[in-house]
Amino acid sequence: MKQDPALELLAEFLPELQKAFSHLPEAESAGAPRNAMREVLAQVAGRMADNYPYFHPLYAGQMLKPPHPIARAAYALAMWINPNNHALDGGRASSRLEVEAVREIAAMFGWMEYLGHLTSGGTFANLEAMWVAGQLAPGKKIAASDQAHYTHGRISGVLGLQFVSVPADERGRMDVGALEKLVRTGEIGTVVVTLGTTSMGAVDPLPKVLELSARYGFRVHVDAAYGGYFKLVSNIGPEAAEAFARIGEADSIVVDPHKHGLQPYGCGCVLFRDPAVGRFYKHDSPYTYFTSSELHLGEISLECSRAGAAATALWATEKLLPLVPEGEFAAGLARSREAAVRLYGKISEYDGFLPGPEPELDILVWAVKADTLQESSQRAKEVFDRAAAEDLHLALAQVPAKYFGANVWRDAQPESKVTCLRSVLMKPEHLEWCGEIWKRLSRAANF
Ligand SMILES: *Cc1c(COP(=O)(O)O)cnc(C)c1O
Repeated sequence: MKQDPALELLAEFLPELQKAFSHLPEAESAGAPRNAMREVLAQVAGRMADNYPYFHPLYAGQMLKPPHPIARAAYALAMWINPNNHALDGGRASSRLEVEAVREIAAMFGWMEYLGHLTSGGTFANLEAMWVAGQLAPGKKIAASDQAHYTHGRISGVLGLQFVSVPADERGRMDVGALEKLVRTGEIGTVVVTLGTTSMGAVDPLPKVLELSARYGFRVHVDAAYGGYFKLVSNIGPEAAEAFARIGEADSIVVDPHKHGLQPYGCGCVLFRDPAVGRFYKHDSPYTYFTSSELHLGEISLECSRAGAAATALWATEKLLPLVPEGEFAAGLARSREAAVRLYGKISEYDGFLPGPEPELDILVWAVKADTLQESSQRAKEVFDRAAAEDLHLALAQVPAKYFGANVWRDAQPESKVTCLRSVLMKPEHLEWCGEIWKRLSRAANF
């Protein structure tokens, strides 16, 4: 394997960072017992080898994307200081980097004035958005499609809010007719619109939900934990593009830099259009440090300790790869999308497969042809195993049978689910590996 440039750069700049503190008197430290550490690290390397090759283009299964080398290097560098972004005293430099990094994300959605910060991930970011939503509409319900992330139901439970599931159509998108019936009751306080569902990247019809919101007066939260960055690309279908074009009209948005933003885990982001919601976060803790009159991140975040290193890594990545439509970052996403379109084409032409809905982003699902649903599910598992034996790693998903058309299986009921194959083509390199992926997949399916 090639030498990782991140390691070389880290070795170059860590001493630079340490130099900044070299005027301090030498302090005895416990010292690191090199040999003992060496032994343990050898075990770590051995244990970590027991993984799927998430970094490789032949890993085309779940939502896993390697962090950019700049993010790894910046994260490691900042971690030597290990700042805590819960307060300016704990993470002076990295709090500023967080404010700047979040500003770039907000600008991507066209927001100049907003309230926002990083979180440990999408789940917590959504929880904050729902917590604010609950304060603004006490006693009202949260509605999300049955394809929304599974944590939304749980989050509502934690917050003591009632949750209603809205059916999705045969392409996995929220059924607005069903939503309208629900909001007419006046019981819905907030609608969660998912732009890029986790299972298949479906894009809910945000423009129609916004129309209903104007008529019935509910809050709109966009969960774009997975899909948010697709705001920057132009090679998505017209309906998805219309939804992304209007994302800035939502009341709150969640996007996960640790999904498509090239970051290590521990990096979600929540944004509110109205900065005044900051009033809900007010707390008076004897532990927080108030050496600054600036509003610090701990005052606008539900979580306390958060890695300043995560903010530093995000800031560095955005510096290298700005979040602009014509930039290299957007081009990488567009390649993922193109890879999905291409693989979908191959799957559709192949006799042994049943393609799912046309992918809206870079996630596809497909089933294996068979007389019965049970047989199809069984064969999907076999293809999954046979592909893995070819070093091609896919995922399995349980999805509504209706995604594959009506009457394709003689034992299918309207609400039946089928186990199918799923592939998330998140890496730009998936595009040039499409041919190789297809070669291995068709070998695995040919039995
Ligand atoms: C991944 C995801 C989440 C959860 O985010 P985590 O970062 O895994 O906590 C929520 N919503 C959507 C749409 C997602 O794809």
